[in-house]
Formats: sequence, C-alpha cells, structure tokens
Amino acid sequence: MPFDYAPAPESRSIVDIKPSYGLFIDGEFTDARSSTSFKTISPSSEEVLADISDAGPSDVDIAVTAARKAYTRTWRRLAPAERGKFLYRIARIIQERARELAVLESLDNGKPIRESRDVDVPTAAAHFFYYAGWADKLDYAGLGRAPRPLGVAGQVIPWNFPLLMLAWKIAPALATGNTVVLKPAETTPLTALLFAEICQQADLPPGVVNIITGAGETGRALVEHPDVDKIAFTGSTEVGKAIARAIAGTRKRATLELGGKAANIVFDDAPIDQAVEGIVNGIFFNQGHVCCAGSRLLVQENVYDEVLESLRRRLATLRLGDPLDKNTDIGAINSAAQLARIRELSDVGEAEGAQRWSPPCELPEHGFWFPPTLFTGVSQSSRIAQEEIFGPVLSVLTFRTPDEAVQKANNTPYGLSAGVWTEKGSLILWMASKLRAGVVWANTFNRFDPASPFGGYKESGFGREGGRQGLAAYLRSDADA
Ligand code: NAD
Ligand code: MN
Repeated sequence: MPFDYAPAPESRSIVDIKPSYGLFIDGEFTDARSSTSFKTISPSSEEVLADISDAGPSDVDIAVTAARKAYTRTWRRLAPAERGKFLYRIARIIQERARELAVLESLDNGKPIRESRDVDVPTAAAHFFYYAGWADKLDYAGLGRAPRPLGVAGQVIPWNFPLLMLAWKIAPALATGNTVVLKPAETTPLTALLFAEICQQADLPPGVVNIITGAGETGRALVEHPDVDKIAFTGSTEVGKAIARAIAGTRKRATLELGGKAANIVFDDAPIDQAVEGIVNGIFFNQGHVCCAGSRLLVQENVYDEVLESLRRRLATLRLGDPLDKNTDIGAINSAAQLARIRELSDVGEAEGAQRWSPPCELPEHGFWFPPTLFTGVSQSSRIAQEEIFGPVLSVLTFRTPDEAVQKANNTPYGLSAGVWTEKGSLILWMASKLRAGVVWANTFNRFDPASPFGGYKESGFGREGGRQGLAAYLRSDADA
C-alpha cells in the first residue's frame, strides 16, 4: 500500500480579513456612494469571507477624477527614476508579505497554496521588479525618443490569477507614468484590496492607484467613463467584444487579453514522461482556469497508447482538496457559476460521443469541485474541442504528420498559446512559424516571465503584456500624433 500524505495545512492566522471593505480612492479606503454590496466567499468551503462594496457610476467617477488629478499634478511630473523607486518598493513589500498574499489568494480564489506561493505571488513581484527597471529607460524601448504616457488607465481583471493579473496591469502602467483605476473580479477582490494597503505602505502618492470593487456593471462604467484614456482588459471573449464595441470611435486605446483553446502537441520522439508532466501542468494547473491552458492535447498516433496510459496513471496521483494544504495539486473551482459551465460542457462532450474518464477521486462535501477529467475520441467539431471550458478538462485528439498537427492546432477561433513536444529543434522552429498563437512553448508549458511578451491572435484579443512590448500599450510616441 502506498504511503498517504498527512494533512499539511498552511495556517491562515497570518491574514487579517476585515468584515467589510470600502473602495480605495485617492490613497484612502472610503465608503462607496452606492449602498449596495456583495459577499466574497471561499470557494472551497462556501464560507463568507467579507462584504465588498459594489461601486456605482458616481464611485467610478470619483475614482477616475482622483486618477486624473494624480496624473496631472504628481505622477506624470515625477522624475522617471523616482517612479522606478516606488515600483521597486512595491515589489519588495510584495516579497515581504508573500505568505499573507498567498494565503489570502488561496482562500478567496480556491487555488492550491503551492501555486499561489510558488507561482502567483513571486511572479507578481517579478513584474514589479522588471517594470521598475524600465521606468527610467523608456527612451531605449524602441518607441522613439521620450515616449509619453497616455493618462488614466481603466483596468478590469478576471478571477483566475487575481494578484498576478493586477501586477501585469499596474506595473507597466505606473512605470510609464500613467495612473490607474483597477477593478478586480467580483469573486476575488481581496488581494487587490490588500495591494491597496501595500500602496499606502509604499507611500505611493494618493490617486496613482485606485481600486474599485464591483461586478460587470462597475467594469462597464469604468470602461465607458469619458475621462479614461486607456482600457486594459483580461477576461472572456464575449465581454472583450462588448468593450471593443463600447469604445469604438472614441480616442481610447485598448488591449484585450481574452480566451484560448491551446493545443499541446506531442510528437512521437518526445520524452514521454516529461511530456506527461507538461500536459498535466498545461491543463490541471490552477484547475484549468487559465486562458492559455493546454486544453486540447494532440498526440501523434503511434505514441497515443503509451501517452494515454502514462497520463491516466499520473492523474490518479493528483491530490484534490483543501487549497491551504501544501500537498494539494487541485483546488476548488472558483464559483458555482463556473462549476455549472464546466459541468454543462462536459455533459455536451459526452452527448457528442466522446469518452469521459476521471481517476477515482473523492470530492469534498462543501464548496465547488470538479475532478480532473479526460475526454478521448473527441472530434474537431465537438464543442469541447472548440469552446473554452476553463476547467480541469482535457480533450484528446490525434494526428499523424506535422502538417496535420498544425492544421488541427490552428482549427480554433482562438490563438493565445500552444505547446510542442519533440526532440527535434528544426521541427520546433517549423511548428512555431506555422502555429497561429501568441506564445509557443517548446518542451514546457505555462511558463511565465515578465520579460516575455504575452498576448493573442484572432479571438484571443490584441496587444501584448510583458516585456518591452508591454510598454507600448501604455505609451504614445511622436509617430502617434
Ligand atoms: P468575464 O469576462 O465576465 O469577467 C472578467 C472581468 O470583466 C470581471 O472583472 C468582470 O466583472 C468584468 N466585466 C464583466 N462584464 C463587463 C463589462 N460589460 N464591461 C466591463 N467589465 C466587465 O468572465 P467570467 O464571467 O468571470 O468568466 C466567463 C468565461 O470567461 C470563463 O468561463 C472563461 O471561459 C472566460 N475567462 C477567461 C479569462 C482569461 O483569462 N482569458 C479569465 C476569466 C474568464
Ligand atoms: Mn472569493
């Protein structure tokens, strides 16, 4: 009999969650004008964590006004190296408060502490360090001499990587001299509100960062506010399209980071054990709540049996449960609504004739859970091969030749990422040139680095975040008029 793991829960005593939160505007927490509020819960237990303000249009207006004032009076005028110092300070405080941020993220989002501790929080700090370094070097970013900031950025982020998406948005905006109003997702506002405290701790000038909470209507009011110069959005393709329509014909600039349906392509010469780890990381990392998740596995036909057997064996060892347990691999699904969507699409997969498989897996009684799931015998036209499930569900297809792999991989309305597994360098380069995807990983998957640009083709959106390219989204050069 294999040894089982003893429970190893991370203590939650390090976090201090208040019963209710106001909005963070002009450097202070203030009560919202709107009197409505909503609860954020822990998706692993359904325990209510806090009462959150639901910002209305007048709150949005106050926040945008504060950001405008900070932009014109302080932030834009500050020496670039001084802006950089604030970003370094924020980065260091994120590191100092890493455990607190990780525990809070896992509580509010449901993701395993191992991931929030080892991926989300350190990568968030890395983004602030990276863009801090750019703050006084913008003349050398390839955007002409002395590129200028855009003004006030309205930023709307999703619930899958709450703190990390905040860092992706705020770090480049501040480094380039813009000020921001950011709205976190309604199910995961707590780390953004803790980040507001970090801004206070860093003595960031008031109004440079404003955090307003609320749901889609709050996001819409922010995006449509006439004094917002730039929109940065990450979320569903549906909302991305609505935003593009809402700002069409205005002077607003936008970057949209939307959905994906990435192919993870395994050739017969790939190191199978490594590829299986990459497949697991590709789709079961963060419960599959990842826009660039490797949700379509394409396996070369002659290694199909071998790959599937290894994969099933590996899935049987994944541990699902308490997000705060350091041994947990798969945490809770973020919300009841997302769980319903995953269930619905999985049922459609079965109804359309694919074979469904999950390892034996006991699901906790409370909270939102879905077992790691494989679908084999999936046809290209099936909805589970075309639509983003955004859950721990992998659709498996096969191919014979590199041409067929490319054709199947590109047969999607999306184009965010792809993975290629092979020993052959020339094949990697050939595949990378043919795949219509913003990021192509070779013999790895879901690897993020602040120096590397990230973004989509087609319905996955436009614009790049990260790297030198990520600066362009927040700057105006002389060529722009
Ligand atoms: P969503 O796009 O509705 O929400 C993302 C963010 O946008 C949230 O902060 C939300 O409050 C805000 N928002 C909603 N409507 C808005 C509007 N009209 N104007 C401005 N902001 C608005 O995503 P969701 O409903 O949470 O998830 C639905 C699906 O979207 C998921 O199943 C998944 O397929 C996809 N998704 C993708 C990503 C990604 O990273 N690409 C992230 C989350 C969800
Ligand atoms: Mn929550």
